[in-house]
Amino acid sequence: MSDIKQLPTRDQVDSKLTWDLTPIFKDDEAFNAAFDRVSKEIDALPKLEGKLAESAKKLVSVIESIMTTIRPAEKLYVFASLKHDQDTANSENQALSGRTQSMLTKLESNIAWFEPELLAVKPSTLDQWIETEPSLKPYEHYLRTITDGREHVLTPAAEKLLAQAGDALGASSNTFGVLNDADLEFPVVEDDDGVTVQLTQGVYDQLIQSTQPEVRKMAFKQLYAVYHQFRHTLAATLSGNVKTHNFEASVHHYQNARQAAMSSNHIPVSVFDSLVTSVNDHLPLLHRYVALRKRILKLKELHMYDLYTPITGEPKLSYTFEEAKAEALKALAVLGSDYLSHVQEAFDSRWIDVVENKGKRSGAYSSGMYDTAPYILLNWQDNLESLFTLVHEMGHSMHSYYTTHNQPYQYGDYSIFVAEIASTTNETLLTDYLLNQYSDKQIQAFILNHYLDGFKGTVFRQTQFAEFEHFIHEQDAAGQPLTAEFLSKFYLDLNKKYYGEAVISDPEIADEWARIPHFYYNYYVYQYATGFAAANTLAQRITSGDTAKRDAYLDYLKSGSSDYPINVMQKAGVDMTQTTYLDQAFAEFEKRLDQFETLAETM
Ligand SMILES: [Zn+2]
Repeated sequence: MSDIKQLPTRDQVDSKLTWDLTPIFKDDEAFNAAFDRVSKEIDALPKLEGKLAESAKKLVSVIESIMTTIRPAEKLYVFASLKHDQDTANSENQALSGRTQSMLTKLESNIAWFEPELLAVKPSTLDQWIETEPSLKPYEHYLRTITDGREHVLTPAAEKLLAQAGDALGASSNTFGVLNDADLEFPVVEDDDGVTVQLTQGVYDQLIQSTQPEVRKMAFKQLYAVYHQFRHTLAATLSGNVKTHNFEASVHHYQNARQAAMSSNHIPVSVFDSLVTSVNDHLPLLHRYVALRKRILKLKELHMYDLYTPITGEPKLSYTFEEAKAEALKALAVLGSDYLSHVQEAFDSRWIDVVENKGKRSGAYSSGMYDTAPYILLNWQDNLESLFTLVHEMGHSMHSYYTTHNQPYQYGDYSIFVAEIASTTNETLLTDYLLNQYSDKQIQAFILNHYLDGFKGTVFRQTQFAEFEHFIHEQDAAGQPLTAEFLSKFYLDLNKKYYGEAVISDPEIADEWARIPHFYYNYYVYQYATGFAAANTLAQRITSGDTAKRDAYLDYLKSGSSDYPINVMQKAGVDMTQTTYLDQAFAEFEKRLDQFETLAETM
């Protein structure tokens, strides 16, 4: 399949292409000294217990003592986890990371009393404190995000009991993980070169993109045969997990699991309903795209296993990392000179670990905390996909940068609901830039298809998942047993509705629910879809040339968790409780689908 390349060992990588962690800790000695200091502070935290209700001033002092311990602990965490990921096989790094994990677990349990104690303060007392004690004012929103859930918190004894049952309640999800990641064995199949390979989840992801129909068909059939064989077990683990969500929602006096999950980020359920309604209204666009795929691939029948093979040839677009940095700066220039100066800072100060080496963690991410730079892990390849990854992760890092430089510590992070919007906005800006930059038809087609596939996989597919997830939670709550037959029947119907007539919903796809880890995440996936659509509106505002709109976007990056996510997005220019931003995203999808159709006809 791919050329076997010799990866360098960590010490063979040019240090200019590695991240510089010395601003966090000069060396391991400095780390160890900080570790000992923080460990002692963590041991002292239980002494604060039982004191915060004494007075407003005491509450401030308890909050500040806790935060003074957490802040340096976060630095230890970032240092240890980045070192771990740069070479996961390095046993010293493993030990460093393991030690830090245990320290964080202890930290958490040593402050577990904080929320119940805070909630035990009478609301009227707390209101009065906030009004009269100026030093408490900066913590108002922070305190509100905790006390907002007051009516859903049980007595300390009941909460303790539930916490003790936590492992048992999570057992179904764990069992799925162990079965899916470790125990399930797949048969051998043939790859593009006719070589026999052991099918795994990773190999499947490659083979399903094969340009040879037989290869992807066999991978599909063989993979699903295994899931079908275990469908009753997998229905039981999924059902157990749904029951846990429904149980926890019900004992905490929520109307249902969805309300419970969404209220943790203060997102109104209308955001979810608007998404599902709007996506359903626009399914004909997905049907059109799928039909186009069938025409371009010149297939008599389009099957579910034909949805991931590329329909445009690889363009001759290649970027070294140096070239990619220049392209990223040009694509993001619409965000203004201040933004660009910090991107440049990320390049110059070595916040990025660029190339692959033996033992390095795969994939890409942005990671940092309040007192560290927002580092980026990449596994660079000289292609367009890596350029997209670079601007995506840079979007997260700039969001972190602006937040930590504009907010006090208590508001120095942000929720997952708004996180993917900053990264996806950058990808959208890169798409716009590339489409303007290249007139070559093949390159245009490739970029348009990259966008259309991204839209399909994020907006349509994740909403399909969200709809399924909500349905099974409601069914369970209504007393319907979630058997494999029941799940598969609904899933197949849903799949037919989403993909339409142009594609054959092969019987195997009915079992797709059995292999999706995200169904264990508890109303998580809808955020991928809402984030992608919101990014579309934001990118349009940024490129409109109206600097006030661009500044509103930068204000969102600076907001951190100082306000509820839905309010932050509203101020940035997207009302996510309405369907307008979704309509705009579909209009963009349709426009680019038109362009792609026209191009495809002339190629
Ligand atoms: Zn991301």
